[in-house]
Amino acid sequence: MSEQLTIALSKGRIFDETLPLLAVAGIVPAEDPEQSRKLIIATNREQVRLVIVRATDVPTYVQYGAADLGIAGKDVLTEHGGEGLYQPLDLHIARCRMMVAVRQGFDYQAASQPGRRLRVATKYPDIAAAHFAAKGVHVDIIKLYGSMELAPLVGLSDAIVDLVSTGGTLKANRLEAVEHIADISSRLVVNKAALKTKYALLEPVIQAFARAVASDTPTHDKETDNEHSAD
Ligand code: ATP
Ligand code: MG
Repeated sequence: MSEQLTIALSKGRIFDETLPLLAVAGIVPAEDPEQSRKLIIATNREQVRLVIVRATDVPTYVQYGAADLGIAGKDVLTEHGGEGLYQPLDLHIARCRMMVAVRQGFDYQAASQPGRRLRVATKYPDIAAAHFAAKGVHVDIIKLYGSMELAPLVGLSDAIVDLVSTGGTLKANRLEAVEHIADISSRLVVNKAALKTKYALLEPVIQAFARAVASDTPTHDKETDNEHSAD
């Protein structure tokens, strides 16, 4: 059997925004993961297959070599730590911002003074802890898996750390962003060992992605926000 290349992708915006990049590399999925229930999807190229995993699981599949490469948000990569991963390219897709948000009218300045403790709900405990530690603000972090926007509305927390693109979800829930933590976009991640052992297969794909990004850089305003962005 000839060597296989396995690419880990998540459904939704990352898959959708990756399709044009794959096309530049001459890779076309045989099925749409939104329609199919298959978790392994063949492509037009016999040697290349896609595996469909949760966005937060992409770095793990690539780290352990179950996938040779993958695409993951900087948010997910920072929280994962990036161990065992080579990160050659910022793909400039799935762009958004990591922000601190509170209920409209909440006195964030007062609540984050020395001597106070701020309760922060988030899906990103490491990013949140590092941010507040750098500011010298004492926080209690509450780990959530989705719908962070609800937490300040029902008194679970004072603030949330979450991804924001248009701000529509915050506004719909009477929240406001009060601090910018980081700009987020998705990155190509490659298994460090595969980069050596499968170089001949991987290198043209990485090069094609680099070309696609270079020829299509000003795509910032394709940001989307919808009711699913909180989950
Ligand atoms: P699920 O929605 O299945 O619970 P998820 O929330 O991890 O999983 P997505 O919402 O598709 O999956 O997010 C995947 C990645 O897309 C995130 O890790 C982040 O990098 C990026 N992202 C998330 N929300 C937005 C947004 N509103 N706009 C742009 N990019 C986003
Ligand atoms: Mg989501």
